[in-house]
Amino acid sequence: MDCIFCKIVNGSIPSEKVYEDDLILAFKDINPATPVHIVIVPKEHIASVMEIKNEHKNLIGHIYIKAQKIAIENGISETGFRIVNNCGQDGGQSVNHIHFHLLGGRSLQWPPG
Ligand code: 5GP
Ligand code: ZN
Repeated sequence: MDCIFCKIVNGSIPSEKVYEDDLILAFKDINPATPVHIVIVPKEHIASVMEIKNEHKNLIGHIYIKAQKIAIENGISETGFRIVNNCGQDGGQSVNHIHFHLLGGRSLQWPPG
């Protein structure tokens, strides 16, 4: 499949991995928006939040549990961080493989523009 994140998962596109297990991969964003900017993806291709099925409940929970560990290991668990999922055109989703941005290392503005 012609999907950048599937290619990162299968290794045909290199990435700077920060965490990997059977279900998920986390890697540094190529164009970081914050001092710490990690992208967490399921290895299974799911296009967006709108494609999450009941069978994915454990997988989505797993992403958040592992986000804690990744935040700790990257020094942002105590200062705080934001986990962002962009969905669809208005949400600013540019890669159609569901992913969660882990953003931290500086104070973040709210609300988004
Ligand atoms: P989106 O805009 O879909 O929410 O987020 C996609 C993210 O993937 C962007 O922050 C973009 O910088 C990142 N990205 C796109 N292509 C690559 C790539 O080839 N390698 C890495 N590490 N990140 C990428
Ligand atoms: Zn994919």
